Amino acid sequence: MLSKPLIITPNRILLSVPHMSGAELRWVQEAFATNWLSTVGPNLTELEKCFQKTLGQHTVALSSGTAGLHLALRLVGVQPGDEVVTQSLTFVASANPILYEHARPILIDSERTTWNLDPELLEKFLKLRARVNRLPKAVILVHLFGQPGAIEQITTICRNYGVALIEDAAESLGSRYHGRHPGTFGDVGVFSFNGNKMITGTTGGILISSDAQKANCARHWSTQARDADPSGINNYLHTERGYNYRMSNVIAGIVRGQLDVLPSRVIQRRSVFERYRNALAGIPGLEPQPDAPWATPGPESGSMPDNPSYHSRWLSCFLIDEAQFGCSAPDLIRWLHLANVEARPVWRPMHLQPLFSSAERIGGEVAEDLNARGICLPSSSSLTLEDQAFVIARIHEAHSSGISSKSMSQKKRAN
Ligand SMILES: *Cc1c(COP(=O)(O)O)cnc(C)c1O
Repeated sequence: MLSKPLIITPNRILLSVPHMSGAELRWVQEAFATNWLSTVGPNLTELEKCFQKTLGQHTVALSSGTAGLHLALRLVGVQPGDEVVTQSLTFVASANPILYEHARPILIDSERTTWNLDPELLEKFLKLRARVNRLPKAVILVHLFGQPGAIEQITTICRNYGVALIEDAAESLGSRYHGRHPGTFGDVGVFSFNGNKMITGTTGGILISSDAQKANCARHWSTQARDADPSGINNYLHTERGYNYRMSNVIAGIVRGQLDVLPSRVIQRRSVFERYRNALAGIPGLEPQPDAPWATPGPESGSMPDNPSYHSRWLSCFLIDEAQFGCSAPDLIRWLHLANVEARPVWRPMHLQPLFSSAERIGGEVAEDLNARGICLPSSSSLTLEDQAFVIARIHEAHSSGISSKSMSQKKRAN
């Protein structure tokens, strides 16, 4: 077991780091030069315009993706005591906003195909609930690691039962599903610009909706919900509960500078994954996260199909079969840590969290297996060939020497 605090040395190879384009500083400097240093300004306007144009949806720039998910729940009418379905296998930020609204999470297992919300379990659950007239208020579909979930099935199911669909697309900016961006299929979609995501503003998020009224409402709530005041002197009038969730114009400048490189970041991350896949292909018991059955050749292939579907490979994920590989996923994570390489497990399911111990759960075996056997390898778009070769060599070593928790202390390498 890892007991000492992690020492981050300068040479540590990290999981996913910010990768600036160089254009960000220009927009940040312009914000300073023109004194647009609040939650209003040209960077914000430009960022929203750009997303609106690319995604064909109304957009609201926010302080974080989590803030976006919180507003999304309110936009679809979630009230205290309502039930909200989400996939158990996700980062806690998908589920925390359910608690903010004092709603009740229902945690459904993942499917093996995409690692995301299992459409069959969802349909069975909604069918049962429709019979007793107790449908949940909303479903949150997460597109984990850049892999779009079973969007077509899930949008149809939600439509059939009249349940709102929120897409947590925080990890999937840059992916495609039949030519469209995941996040644009539900009633509301949310992206994140957290420091470890595909592109970053150091922090930040964006909410999108095809419904202008929803977007306007989110913008209103995100700035403390101050109403127009008939007195003409803006005499602080508030009817609804609001938040301080708006993005700052400085952060918007950073994200703005990242927008142009988004396509190349996707190609770079997909190339990182491809190199792992090729270099590790011969190792038994080490299996890459599969492409969904509908995946087409990706953007790096040169000739893109008209309606491409592809995984952005935000993170390069693998599954380990301990018996064949020679050690478990946690052992490999510890082994890489000793070599100054950061790898992480696939998310710990929400139904295993003390925080959600009283939540209703539907299945969970797939999520548990993916968490127990999954490993996310360093996936930065800026990862050098040399560093990646180092990671790959350590994995080959772990396999051939059959490390385990017990033997690890003897095999500790000097950093
Ligand atoms: C990062 C992330 C979020 C939250 O985004 P923040 O901008 O960090 O608040 C939500 N859901 C998932 C699945 C994420 O990975």
